[in-house]
Amino acid sequence: MKQSKMFIPTLREVPADAEVTSHRLLLRAGYMRQTSSGVYSYLPLGKKVLKKIEEIVREEMDNTGANEILMPTLQQAELWQESERWFSYGPELMRMRDRHNREFALGPTHEEVVTSLVRDELASYKKLPLTLYQIQTKFRDEKRPRFGLLRGREFIMKDAYSFHANQESLDEVYEDLFQAYSNVFSRCGLNFRAVIADSGAMGGKDTHEFMVLSEIGEDTIAYSDSSDYAANIEMAPVVATYEKSSEAQKELEKVSTPDQKSIEDISSFLNVDATACIKSLLFKVDDKFVLVLVRGDHEVNDIKVKNLLEATIVELATPEETAEVLGCEVGSLGPINVKNVEVIADHAVASIVNGVCGANEKDYHFVNVNPDRDFEVSQYADIRFIQEGDASPCGNGTIKFAMGIEVGHVFKLGTRYSESMGANFLDENGKSKPMIMGCYGIGVSRTLAASAEQYNDEKGLVWPKQLAPFHVHLIPVNMKNEEQATLGNELYASLKAKGFDVLIDDRNERAGVKFNDSDLMGLPVRVTVGKKASEGIVEVKNRKTGDSAEVHVDQLVETINEILG
Ligand code: ATP
Ligand code: MG
Repeated sequence: MKQSKMFIPTLREVPADAEVTSHRLLLRAGYMRQTSSGVYSYLPLGKKVLKKIEEIVREEMDNTGANEILMPTLQQAELWQESERWFSYGPELMRMRDRHNREFALGPTHEEVVTSLVRDELASYKKLPLTLYQIQTKFRDEKRPRFGLLRGREFIMKDAYSFHANQESLDEVYEDLFQAYSNVFSRCGLNFRAVIADSGAMGGKDTHEFMVLSEIGEDTIAYSDSSDYAANIEMAPVVATYEKSSEAQKELEKVSTPDQKSIEDISSFLNVDATACIKSLLFKVDDKFVLVLVRGDHEVNDIKVKNLLEATIVELATPEETAEVLGCEVGSLGPINVKNVEVIADHAVASIVNGVCGANEKDYHFVNVNPDRDFEVSQYADIRFIQEGDASPCGNGTIKFAMGIEVGHVFKLGTRYSESMGANFLDENGKSKPMIMGCYGIGVSRTLAASAEQYNDEKGLVWPKQLAPFHVHLIPVNMKNEEQATLGNELYASLKAKGFDVLIDDRNERAGVKFNDSDLMGLPVRVTVGKKASEGIVEVKNRKTGDSAEVHVDQLVETINEILG
């Protein structure tokens, strides 16, 4: 391509509202533009990278035997009412009406559409398993669209859905898709981990998220320093065992603790370790209240509480609710003398001897508290967040934390949608059964941003060959110089003929402008045609390492191939 004919509006200034590197660079290097909050246009360079990612995804999906289709964005409300998500999906679902006042949604995901499609067309086990996928624009009215393409309101997703006659078949396809996803992110050259995740609102069981490791990631990953174990911290089980001290139990005592509310306050005021404090939090679990206890140095994991109590909604009680139920402030809560409220506790609490807890009375705490002697617990369970330094649940090594950007998600759905929407098939014995389903998503536009987040330096983007919009940036320094222009054009033609993807900067711009733009755009190889054009010598620069060398045009192809690897 000729740069003079290409729409690449680079920016000198750093856009004020772009908080993260990928967002800043994709705007500055002219890869994309925002049209409204969380909604973007992909400009030629951005579109080219997107296409490369899509092609990798497509190849890997096709390799699993999945069929590519394209489903509608516009989805009638009836489908969402059948699955009962019309109401439960909440304000993220973009809703609209047509001219006949019929309700529609702009698809945030396609379980409903694909389930109705397969339900109406497929009736026998002989046609199963079947995996369908598409690469398509999704709409989600995110509460906080941010970080450019990382969290958009309109974004590109590859979504796939598999249908099965039995669980073994789902397990097999899940394995294949898991491998395909690993291949996709490896081929993109991303530093990622597949982590065990929570099934959340989708109502499934087995699920993994693919996380690109990055400081700006929104998810915390707990991983083992000695194995490939990794889990979303929401999910990682704690296997710690706690030693109970042999100290004799002392007499329970209520002490005055004016203005001491947090665990930190209390432990310094009473001069006790946080591990001797009992942290008490009142939660609203569906329609009842539950007092949840963890050790002072631990944090309650509400997802574990939710799973333990098989609840739908678990949220911290408001100060008003707390006052009503326990008659005190949030900072003074404790389990002693609590009536009519279930008390559950983390395993670590059971081993506290002569500990400290709130007295359900402003400015008072109990000391010498001993669980089971001074209060009852309905069940002890693992309900805290794993912490750095804990033993890894896999039995190998210790836990470390890293931040991750979720780029993919594989999920065993089971019969959640086939049952509510009546997607049944006849088995070998002619018996009607709901199909078993899996679903699998890749954030294609998010992967573009996550890649930009990984591949950059202080001057701009630094693409690897497999994602770069072009392989070679050919820069005749001065297009008005006939020798430079001629050699530039000759090399452009010959490199293209050899199969390289070349962008020639044929603009009449100053050298400084050309080089700055080139650094920003980040193509892997730069070939500069300058003063030595008459001798057939050009400069070849590796964008990633910054290494450059003068080479004769006869050696150019070889040198470029060395850099591209
Ligand atoms: P998140 O927790 O980040 O909101 P999600 O759990 O809602 O993600 P899924 O419903 O599993 O995501 O969607 C599949 C994939 O689509 C995700 O793994 C992610 O890569 C991508 N994705 C989801 N929401 C967005 C968004 N708002 N912008 C860009 N990509 C997104
Ligand atoms: Mg989401």
